[in-house]
Amino acid sequence: MKEKIYLSSPHMGGSEQNYVNEAFKTNWIAPLGPNVQEFEGAIENYLGEGNHVAALSSGTAAIHLALILLGVERGDEVICQSMTFSASANPIVYLGATPIFIDSELDTWNICPNHLEEAIKDRIVKGKKPKVIIAVHLYGMPYKVDEIRKISEKYEIPIIEDSAEAFGSSYKGNKCGTFGDLSILSFNGNKIITTSGGGALVSRNLKHKEKAIFFATQARDAAPHYQHSEIGYNYRLSNISAGIGRGQMEVLDKHVGLRREMNQFYQNIFRNKAGVKVFKEPNEDYFSNHWLSCILVDERTSGFSNEEIRLAMAENNIECRPLWKPMHLQPIFKNAPYYGTDISEKLFEIGLCLPSGSNLQSEEKVKINDVLIHLIDK
Ligand SMILES: *Cc1c(COP(=O)(O)O)cnc(C)c1O
Repeated sequence: MKEKIYLSSPHMGGSEQNYVNEAFKTNWIAPLGPNVQEFEGAIENYLGEGNHVAALSSGTAAIHLALILLGVERGDEVICQSMTFSASANPIVYLGATPIFIDSELDTWNICPNHLEEAIKDRIVKGKKPKVIIAVHLYGMPYKVDEIRKISEKYEIPIIEDSAEAFGSSYKGNKCGTFGDLSILSFNGNKIITTSGGGALVSRNLKHKEKAIFFATQARDAAPHYQHSEIGYNYRLSNISAGIGRGQMEVLDKHVGLRREMNQFYQNIFRNKAGVKVFKEPNEDYFSNHWLSCILVDERTSGFSNEEIRLAMAENNIECRPLWKPMHLQPIFKNAPYYGTDISEKLFEIGLCLPSGSNLQSEEKVKINDVLIHLIDK
């Protein structure tokens, strides 16, 4: 059996193991310790002055706590981009609130400002102003930051910026992870950097960081005994995982460069192929980490479908994956309100994610190239 080529696999830089060994040597085998502080500090440095970071056990946990910090409760409505990974929306339901899903726009594939405003107006007319807007930078591509911010301010609804896929991306020179009232990152195994599993909550407000850590460590009041006035969670990142994270921060920008090279690699392959479009930045305001490189395939023009590419690649043990299936099409969310047309549905129908890892070797790229060129030339 040929070695499998993955969509996106962990890529260690080299010093991760040293930080993990340090944790063993000093016996900080706990969800606290020097690696946690150092990892948070490295992210704060990277994002720039004024950003405060709480390292957590996952990106999902970060969204859950962000919703709590913004006061979301049972019966509330929370707006969420429909085309995303389910983890963007699930925490809304953990809290007994209702997700309101919004279609994508074609430039960035992210939340459409027009349908967002339409939804807010309609929900207000129906009697409830949405509590929060969850906007996502899919595949590393920043959403329309200025337009979404303007609507958020007009209606005074805070934004949770889901930057799980966009660490290292930027918009107008500012880093993704700094645009929300609260922002979240993920360090799951398939993300641009990984701690095997982990996430972070980012805020411009130090109080948010402190409150997030309070909730993430079982909400203990200040007392010598265990005293609780609020419901807590066990969501802090372990000092072992944070050691991996410290090492990964040293190679983040290098990995962004390599992922962007993968995007260029596919641009070159499909350059002269009518009917296949490689997803890229709409203009120079946008800088994507190209966490995953994706294509749209117009079968009538190209002569083959996205599914035919996926199968041809699978036959050669190369992993590809359809785009995120929009949440309003998911069985679990079929009763949730939805605002939009069929943009995200169309993207899902004709899109495909291609192997995009920063650790793909030249022999692997040759193999990918051969399979794709063979299809193109057929
Ligand atoms: C990965 C991901 C998350 C969840 O992060 P975890 O660390 O896996 O819990 C949330 N939103 C998006 C868009 C993601 O891709």
